[in-house]
Amino acid sequence: MTGDWKRRTQLVHTGSRRSQYGEMAEAIFLTQGFAYDTAEAAEARFLAPGEDEFIYARYGNPTVRMFEDRIAAIEGAEDAFATASGMAAVNGALMAPLRAGDRVVAARALFGSCLYILEDILRRFGVTVDLVDGTDLDQWRAAVTPGTKLVFFETVSNPRLEVVDIAAVSAIAHAAGALVVVDNVFATPVFSRAIEQGADVVIYSATKHIDGGGRALGGVICGTRDFIRKTVEPYMKHTGGSMSPFTAWIMLNGMQTLDLRCRAMADSAARLAAALHGHPALSRVIYPGLPDHPQHKLAMAQMGSGGTMVAIEVAAGKEAAFRVLNALDIVKISNNLGDAKSIATHPATTTHQRLPQDQKDRLGITPGLIRLSVGLEDAEDLIADLTAALARA
Ligand SMILES: *Cc1c(COP(=O)(O)O)cnc(C)c1O
Repeated sequence: MTGDWKRRTQLVHTGSRRSQYGEMAEAIFLTQGFAYDTAEAAEARFLAPGEDEFIYARYGNPTVRMFEDRIAAIEGAEDAFATASGMAAVNGALMAPLRAGDRVVAARALFGSCLYILEDILRRFGVTVDLVDGTDLDQWRAAVTPGTKLVFFETVSNPRLEVVDIAAVSAIAHAAGALVVVDNVFATPVFSRAIEQGADVVIYSATKHIDGGGRALGGVICGTRDFIRKTVEPYMKHTGGSMSPFTAWIMLNGMQTLDLRCRAMADSAARLAAALHGHPALSRVIYPGLPDHPQHKLAMAQMGSGGTMVAIEVAAGKEAAFRVLNALDIVKISNNLGDAKSIATHPATTTHQRLPQDQKDRLGITPGLIRLSVGLEDAEDLIADLTAALARA
């Protein structure tokens, strides 16, 4: 049975559906609709679709369902809904359960678009949103009052890699009756045990490690069958943010190597962080796998790994950071992450440019900060590339 398989086996096989041809590779059912034998059959399917009965690709599709079953299995979730992008997943997981008058408490250190949904969109519809320092449990305790409807945080924050204690925050949230929704992108599905640790809903941008080749946008919401099918699905299917079958096919291919890739990338990230630690041009090397990371013990207990991302702070500021970026050869300047190709990002001028200066200061998005997504290249080549570039700082 699928449920007894270990993760690497699930990543290759779970969810597969074969047509009458018995094809080995997952088929792309590139179809928006499905034909019914009779009018009565159409009526019956609209009334109550059975297992593996589809109506319209916005509602569900066989290739997309393979992806949903596979990610739900490795996440330890009952079900999943695949979305057109990571942001469609965040938006769906927040908008579907919330209504005017509800209260949300979220960690302040968030991906820019997540902040936009919380601070601009939800507030516009009468949802109260309070932001806290995600690593400070006292702030969570003070903010999560009885009647709080939902708690949201990135389990490892972007870009400074702060680690939030999923079990502790979930306990605080559940005591108040709140739903715990986590953005788990930086943790990756490979190092995640978020549901076991207390999260109710886990979101991924599949664009990142799940694709792993920087090819397609995608996302997924994992949770209980009740939440996914009764709360998320009606919202997503009527508002149009579903994943395309072609994207699901790309993601299914990516998942076969997800465990191998994330472990190799995390190994290289650990080696790179250790090699750069103490470099005279850097004021800080931030990596949850390093003993001097403020949540190092928590990261190792929660994920068993420091992950695939490293942040470095060039002491001399923006111009020096730009010289370092421009001197990189193997590592590309871009803003994706989780790609096989290593990527360097300057958050202050790109992904977090929109934030006002006081918010940048509060989140530690300094002029010298560079975020590194460590890819699948040889770690020695990456260390040599960074070391040579840092000589220009
Ligand atoms: C990339 C990212 C998203 C958004 O995903 P898209 O697929 O780009 O829409 C959300 N949260 C985090 C933490 C991300 O890194």
